[in-house]
Amino acid sequence: MRRIAIIGAGQAGLQLALGLQGAHYDVTLRAERTAQQVREGRVTSTQLMFGPALALERAAGLNLWDERAPVMGGLEMCHGDPAEAGRPVRFTATYDAEVRSVDQRLKLSAWLELFASRGGRVEYGSVAAEDAPAVVDRHDLTIVAAGRGALASLFGRDAARSVYDRPQRTLAAFYADGVMARGDEADGYLRVSGATRAGDAIALQALTVQGPCAILLLEAKPGGPYDCWADRPGSREGLRRAVELLREYAPWEYERFARAEPTDGGAALYGAITPVVRHAVGSLGGGRYVLGMADAVAVNDPLTGQGANNAARAADAYLGAILKHGERPFGERWMRATFEDYWEQARHVHAFTDLMVRQPLPDHVSRVVEAAYRHPEVAHRFANGYADPASCRDWLMDPERADAYVARFAGSR
Ligand SMILES: Cc1cc2nc3c(=O)[nH]c(=O)nc-3n(C[C@H](O)[C@H](O)[C@H](O)COP(=O)(O)OP(=O)(O)OC[C@H]3O[C@@H](n4cnc5c(N)ncnc54)[C@H](O)[C@@H]3O)c2cc1C
Repeated sequence: MRRIAIIGAGQAGLQLALGLQGAHYDVTLRAERTAQQVREGRVTSTQLMFGPALALERAAGLNLWDERAPVMGGLEMCHGDPAEAGRPVRFTATYDAEVRSVDQRLKLSAWLELFASRGGRVEYGSVAAEDAPAVVDRHDLTIVAAGRGALASLFGRDAARSVYDRPQRTLAAFYADGVMARGDEADGYLRVSGATRAGDAIALQALTVQGPCAILLLEAKPGGPYDCWADRPGSREGLRRAVELLREYAPWEYERFARAEPTDGGAALYGAITPVVRHAVGSLGGGRYVLGMADAVAVNDPLTGQGANNAARAADAYLGAILKHGERPFGERWMRATFEDYWEQARHVHAFTDLMVRQPLPDHVSRVVEAAYRHPEVAHRFANGYADPASCRDWLMDPERADAYVARFAGSR
């Protein structure tokens, strides 16, 4: 039986571990924390998942929250800024496929318990880089799925594929109860409110450990008014501060969040992410190699909500490659080919996200977004593009094609 080690029990590591377990591989999962520690710990993401990634989870039998996790029926985008004259602009568009967010504390703790309950071997504790060779020696294949943690240092930065060398946004996320409806269709939607100097306030529906909740994610432009989290306030003070910012920069969201309370003591998350693509095969010397997966080797800014979706795609792609490889050795060449097959799709996700976080937004993207405010057809296509950024190549990402697309709507209202 092939022995496979997976370091990291996140979206990618657990999904792959469960898939390999189902195919009767001998899997050892190295998890930093127990299921209970994950469940009772701090929030880690806003983990919005779009239709294609949810379909992968469903196909793997991992869609354990379909009955309880709210489905967001569409996207609302608003742009308005107190510093700018004129009324805020707004569009709404429905999603063609389901969009949901299940708190990773709930999802990953349950998947970890599922893996263990099916007889999976879990070794707890953090794996240090110097411990990695010993792990490789005991297994036919070692996959590093340890996210943005220190083990990413096993993989060198791929300068040709990395666009940025520093964070483009500062992040603050809050899980909240007591969010009020305004009585319009967007109450149940994913809502993005942009303000030129501040950045974006993103509101969504989610399922957390205690039940349904709302999440507010502030994607701050560095140095702007939303960028005020250096003191890392507790969740109550942090949410209060965020809501005060909404009063000024997204008053329609202030109406909803004015009485919001944090869901629990771990309901706040602060940080900043440097988007990066790494060389996915790490050499440990002596002919030992590890293969990186998902955030360990390719990280996006969360503005477009793609990292967990990518992790689901990566786990699915790696599972397929491992099964297909049969009994042959998992050498360096196979590892490179496995990542490249995944990258063929993921590169579009990274290109899309790198474009959307650029400041200012590239002119051709701005023209499409402006068209979306006027034309429901453009709004619908834009909203649904997030589910599969590769589909945005032909009408959004390339300046000439974007302009040709927008030109189709010239003269119509
Ligand atoms: C604020 C915020 C909002 C986000 N919103 C979205 C969104 O809406 N949609 C979306 O798709 N993505 C979103 N993301 C990104 C998404 O959460 C990640 O891309 C995704 O979780 C990556 O999955 P992963 O399995 O690669 O890594 P992770 O989920 O980070 O899991 C890595 C695991 O490895 C473990 N680990 C780390 N180091 C070690 C070690 N040395 N030894 C053993 N274990 C280790 C960690 O404890 C963790 O369990 C967001 C991220 C942030 C920060």
